[in-house]
Amino acid sequence: MLQPTIYVGHGNPMFALAENSYTAGWRRLGEEIPKPKAIVSVSAHWFVSGTRVTVNPFPKTIHDFGGFPKQLYEVQYAAPGDPDLARRLQSLLAPVPVMMDESWGLDHGTWSVLRHLYPDADIPVIQLSIDERQPAYFHFELGQRLAPLRTEGILILGSGNLIHNLSRYTWEQQTEPFNWAVRFETNIKSMMSSGDLKSLIQYEGLGQDAALSVPTPDHYLPLLYVAATWQQGERITFPVEGIDGGSISMLTVRIG
Ligand code: ZN
Repeated sequence: MLQPTIYVGHGNPMFALAENSYTAGWRRLGEEIPKPKAIVSVSAHWFVSGTRVTVNPFPKTIHDFGGFPKQLYEVQYAAPGDPDLARRLQSLLAPVPVMMDESWGLDHGTWSVLRHLYPDADIPVIQLSIDERQPAYFHFELGQRLAPLRTEGILILGSGNLIHNLSRYTWEQQTEPFNWAVRFETNIKSMMSSGDLKSLIQYEGLGQDAALSVPTPDHYLPLLYVAATWQQGERITFPVEGIDGGSISMLTVRIG
């Protein structure tokens, strides 16, 4: 039995505190899939020079945003770390050098979602950074090397947004999604549904739609880590869908 893997569109940081159709979907997903033994989270918000992994046994909750209500800064997600698993990633991802990192913890890409998926915070969590210097295929290959962890009941979680254009985002509710966003999401979903996961690496081939949907790669790349764990014949489903504020895709992808 392979542990399912999940890419979550985390969206607005305030969703950490919200109860809406997205957070209800995350909660349901947490109840549906087998409870993991540990979680390896690849968050859009740890986009740095190099591949790093959090090794702290008690990772801190990082409030990596500005201008939000005080309540959001008070959130703590006190899940333990897993230093042994962190060290194992060094051999698993070889020959890519993996740095043991004691300064990072859990950023809001991770905890704003896990708070709903696993409200008890009783599953060990480590974060793996995204090396900002590397091309898309590099991240897909790292995902392939993480895939064997699925046989041990470890959840590989990607957190970003398939479409993440803040300059076009509107805070008004009921905003119609932009046409380019709908087209991009439809194209990416059909690649996945047809089992053509490697094509996700070439998302820039979708031209102007891709340029508007993925103005910077940080929120897209966590999808590649998750997509790369797909095994021939496995189901791919989209348990949460929606485009928030016209230009943020809330699509969740479940593999297995
Ligand atoms: Zn984000």
